[in-house]
Amino acid sequence: LRGVVALDGPSGTGKSTVARKLAAALSASYLDTGAMYRAVTLAVLRAGVPVADADAVAEVAAASLPEMGSDPRDPAVSMAGEDVALEIRGPEVTGAVSAVSAVARVRELLVAEQRRIIADALASPGGVVVEGRDIGTVVARDAGLKVYLTASAQARARRRSDQDVAAGRLADLERTHADVQRRDAFDSGRAVSPLRMAEDAVELDTTDLDVAGVLDRLLGLAEA
Ligand code: C5P
Repeated sequence: LRGVVALDGPSGTGKSTVARKLAAALSASYLDTGAMYRAVTLAVLRAGVPVADADAVAEVAAASLPEMGSDPRDPAVSMAGEDVALEIRGPEVTGAVSAVSAVARVRELLVAEQRRIIADALASPGGVVVEGRDIGTVVARDAGLKVYLTASAQARARRRSDQDVAAGRLADLERTHADVQRRDAFDSGRAVSPLRMAEDAVELDTTDLDVAGVLDRLLGLAEA
């Protein structure tokens, strides 16, 4: 899969921002797999299904696969025609998404859908930049370039808070720090698709880099 760039890593590493900029710079399509898990989580919450009921959660997921836009400048996310791009970033979804994405059947469904979207994107020139947690290890194991972004927990919490402020939500750095750590522990400890770096991925620590700096490194890797 020469045309696939896999960008993995925990939240708050600046992954989404740089993934979109990289895709735009490469004239590539863009796929945010975290947004897919978030959209399914929104559907689960709206259905009033307890996140601990794996069978019921999987049933909702199967009936509510999101439609994903591929334009990195306007990454649309909708479900049954409704634009949910904003709502999936809210605190309710953020609080429940780890539990929903730990359901094996949900992952099976979404990984299959992600592979279908990637295959479609590869039919057109420019390739595709895919961001998530398990792109290099599961979804696109033969991606042409795999990068694993890291940053200190503090830097990640600060970036998350900045995002909240930019989106007009109240920022609480301490709470965000705790949330980042809780999600990390959950995402890396679980049995299905733990958060880990692919053996053939390049690790890029973004703690002391700004967006332009990270993009610069990524473009260098993509063009190598
Ligand atoms: O990237 P983002 O923070 O939006 O992802 C939200 C959540 O979705 C993550 O905390 C993780 O639990 C889950 N996720 C996943 N696999 C992916 C992408 C996201 O399990 N490929």
